[in-house]
Parts: sequence; structure tokens; C-alpha cells
Amino acid sequence: MSLPNYPAAPQLQQLLGERYVAAPERVERYEVLERGPRGHTGAVLLPQTEAEVQQILRLCNAQRTPLVISGGRTGLVEAQRPLGEPVLSLERLNRPLSLTLADGREFVWPAEAASGDAARDALLAWWTALGQPDAEGATVTVQTGLAVDALNDLLRPLNRMFPMEMGSSSAATVGACAANASAGSNAVCYGTSAHMTDTAWGFWGNGEPAGPCRSTPWTAPDPQRFAINSAQIDPAWGLIGSQGAFGIITRLRLRTYAIPAQREAALIPVADMVGAMRILDAARGRFGADVEEFEFISRSAMALVRALHGEAFRLPFAGDVDSPLFLLLQIKSADADADLAAALYEFLAGDLALPDEQIGYAPLAALKKIRHSITEASNARMRALGGGRLSFDTATPLAGFGEYLDAMRAELQRAAPDTELVAFGHAGVGGAHLHVLGSADRPVSAVGKTLTRLVIDVTLAHGGSFSAEHGIGSKWADEYLAHTPSEQLQTIKALKQAHDPHNILNPRSFGFDRLLAA
Ligand SMILES: Cc1cc2nc3c(=O)[nH]c(=O)nc-3n(C[C@H](O)[C@H](O)[C@H](O)COP(=O)(O)OP(=O)(O)OC[C@H]3O[C@@H](n4cnc5c(N)ncnc54)[C@H](O)[C@@H]3O)c2cc1C
Repeated sequence: MSLPNYPAAPQLQQLLGERYVAAPERVERYEVLERGPRGHTGAVLLPQTEAEVQQILRLCNAQRTPLVISGGRTGLVEAQRPLGEPVLSLERLNRPLSLTLADGREFVWPAEAASGDAARDALLAWWTALGQPDAEGATVTVQTGLAVDALNDLLRPLNRMFPMEMGSSSAATVGACAANASAGSNAVCYGTSAHMTDTAWGFWGNGEPAGPCRSTPWTAPDPQRFAINSAQIDPAWGLIGSQGAFGIITRLRLRTYAIPAQREAALIPVADMVGAMRILDAARGRFGADVEEFEFISRSAMALVRALHGEAFRLPFAGDVDSPLFLLLQIKSADADADLAAALYEFLAGDLALPDEQIGYAPLAALKKIRHSITEASNARMRALGGGRLSFDTATPLAGFGEYLDAMRAELQRAAPDTELVAFGHAGVGGAHLHVLGSADRPVSAVGKTLTRLVIDVTLAHGGSFSAEHGIGSKWADEYLAHTPSEQLQTIKALKQAHDPHNILNPRSFGFDRLLAA
């Protein structure tokens, strides 16, 4: 087999042996994205130690061979899309390493029990032998490529969790979540994965060791400020939240959180987003930090979920409730004996004065199924309409989110009445997912540029960000360069020059190919 034409290929192959993968049938899956156009590559690199990651970076710097970083491949901004570069996949760096209790007692996973049930059972046996002490304040140290669900399977017996709730958690890796500051549907309570990360270690793009990099735990920000905004990197956090722009996380120490003793949720119809924000204020007033989720679902998103599930679908209301928007409010309690359902009902029927027929109370799993079916329902509708989709992930500070979303819906309706808008997202942190669907007669590609500009203009006019939590990648590189203040661009350019001077990592992300040339 002939080697692809990468200057560093011979040394990389020597370093990795069979884990330098060039067979087209094995490489193919690294060319396909979760969302966005297909890429192409001649090789996939599968390091299985941190030292190998460092060696790869050194070789690629010496030979000026750029790389594209890949974890679980669920990213939505085309950061992991190769255009000829080798793909550096971190999937084999997927071991849990140690768990440390608040008093310093530590469990180290043995190599022979490093994954799956064996890893969970080994931890549980250690904890049981200690007399099952309270694990409040425990941290867990893992390699970057461990998937979120796999980590939670390990922690669950200790009544702890890594609370990244999102539709991609079975594949998304903890390292990518920390790097991207991913924010799940419970970000209103726990913040982003960056906040859940105590410390990260790894390597800068030039191969030098990086870390310890530290973030700060979540506190709900002032409503005038962004809760989530991945168009703004905090240079002080180093590898955390900087989306692989400057370096690669190989190992992380993560905070763990108590699994609530109880959770209750309800669906609430609401006329507009401004009213929704008042409900969030009231819920916070009553339940404080126990508001665990506050999501919104537009009427069109709900209709698609209904269509997806067909006869099996039930809205959890006594009658037939129609509404421009629905809110999913979830609350939690650490007290197993508290009457949480009664407290929620009191809030809805008492504080909000909702009549019973407007209270969508159902088992949590049924409500979650609705929320987590929206992406699949949007995909199905897009395929049925055959006109493609533009998808946006925007945010504003909470104080202006209600007005913003109402204005956005009106503007899109005015400018593109033939398209379908599916809006949903993390209302509790001012985040909106906007899917604009075209039809076979009127594909969105024909108006893509105009609508993208409109969405971005409306977002910026409301003091918002065109990237809430999915990151910049190459998808939003043009917008990043166009709308980021020049002093911020100079700061990230200087960081890039210091840590990855040859632009080895994800060379098109953030528009670094152009920024470094300027
Ligand atoms: C159905 C679905 C639902 C989703 N829901 C949400 C959601 O609610 N909230 C949300 O925030 N995201 C969501 N996402 C997006 C995605 O899951 C996150 O962006 C996640 O962080 C990607 O993890 P990954 O391991 O798949 O990364 P990949 O897609 O493999 O990598 C993407 C990029 O992340 C960076 N990266 C990955 N690993 C590292 C590392 N070790 N060091 C440095 N940089 C790294 C690189 O730039 C890389 O190119 C969703 C995706 C899908 C498909």
C-alpha cells in the first residue's frame, strides 16, 4: 500500500504501527460528519498513550503536517472535518484513571479493570470496603476519550454524576466537552462542561506539555451577561473551553455531583418568550438552585415530535392544548422524603395561577422523550421536505432572551415565510437552537447566505452571540473573523502563535489559516 503524501507519514507509521490507519474502508467513517459536508483524509492516527500524542505533535510540527482532532465525532461545527489532513482520533485514550474522595482517599483503576462493568465493579468494591462513605466533593480523573455515558455508568453506584445531559452523550467524549465548554439541557443548574472540569492536562499544539489548566465552578451569572457564549474564549482557562485551538486535552480531573434524590417536571404552555423568562424568575425565586432544567420547545418543534412518534405520542395535558411555546421545567431535591410533586403543583397552580388543564404533568421519562426527540424529528422533517436545513445555535444574556427570540421568530417569518422554523433550546441560559427548513421547491441553499446574515444580524442587534455552546469550528470561522473585536482577535492570534505557531491543530477552525496570514 502506498503511503499518503504526508511529510510526516513515515515517522507516524513507525510510531503507531497498525494504529496508523490508511485503509479507505476504515478511514471512511472519519470523513463523515454528524452534520455538514463530508470531508476527506488519507490517514487516521490512533494514539493510545499521552506520550504518543506528544510524539505525534512533535513529528507533525517538524514536518509541518496539520491535523484534525477527533473524539466521539458528534461535534456540530465541522471542527473535526478533515480536508486532506490526517485525523488524530483520541478514542483509544478512554480509560478512567482514579477517583478521589474529599478527604483524600483515592481509588486507582487497575489496568485489568479499565473499562465497562469491570471498571464499575472495581470502584464499587473499593467504596463498599470503605463503608460507603459520602462521596460529596469527590473528583474523578480520566483520559480524554471516555464517553460521557460511560463515565456516568461508573459513577452511578456512588450516587454521583457528571451532569452533561445532551442527545449525544453516548458518544461525545468528556475531553471534547471540556474543550468545547459544551452545555447540556441542565446547564441552568450545573453550567457548562468547562465549569465541571477541575483541571485539564495535555499538550499545546507545538508538543510542549500543557497544564494544569483550571476553570472555576459554575455560578449563575448576572442576567445582563452571557451564561454561555462559545464565541468568547477565556485565555486564563488554557486548554479548557478553547475548543482545541491551542492544544489537546489528554487527561482531566472532573468534579462530580450528587444524583438528586428526586426529580419532577412539567410542561407549561406559554404565549411568548418574554412570559417564559418571567416564569424562570418565579421558579428560581421558589426553588433556587434546584431548578435543574428550563428548556423551551416551539409549537413547530412540538408538532414534529408528534409526527415522529405518531399514534404513540401524547401531550401530557388533560385537553388539547395548543400554544406558540412550551416550557419544560424540571426541579430536583436532595431530600427523598420531600413532597416534590406537591411543591411543583403548588408553584404551577398557586404562584403561576395556571388552571389544571394547562399543567402538563407526566413522568419525567415521558417529558424527556419529547425534549430529546426534537433533533431526530427535525432530521425526519428535513428529509421529507427535501429542501435542506440551516441550523443555528445562538445565545443572548438572559435579560434580553425573551425579546430576542420573539423578534427572531418574527423576522424569519417576514423574510422567509416559505421556510419552517423549528426553535428549541436552553432557555434557562439564554440559548436557542434554530433550524430553518426549506422545501424541494424552495431549498434553503438558495437563500442560505441571506438568511444566515439575517439570523446573525438580529442576534448581534440583541447583544447576542452566533455561537452559544457548539463552538466555532470551521462552520462559523467567517462570522468569527467578521464579528470579533480586533483586540480579541489579536489576543487569540498571539496565543495561537505562542502555542501552535505552525497552525497544526484544526487549521481552519476560527479562521486561523487567514488570521495567521494577516
Ligand atoms: C444529537 C446531538 C445533540 C447535541 N447536543 C448538544 C448540547 O446539548 N450541548 C452541546 O454543547 N453540544 C451538543 N452537541 C454537540 C457535541 O456533542 C459536543 O460539541 C461535544 O463536545 C462533541 O464531543 P465529541 O467527542 O463528539 O467531539 P468531536 O466531534 O469528535 O470533536 C469536535 C472538536 O472538539 C475539539 N476536541 C475534541 N476533543 C478534544 C480534546 N481532547 N482536546 C482539545 N480539543 C478537542 C476539537 O476541536 C475537535 O475537532 C450535540 C450533538 C449531537 C449530535
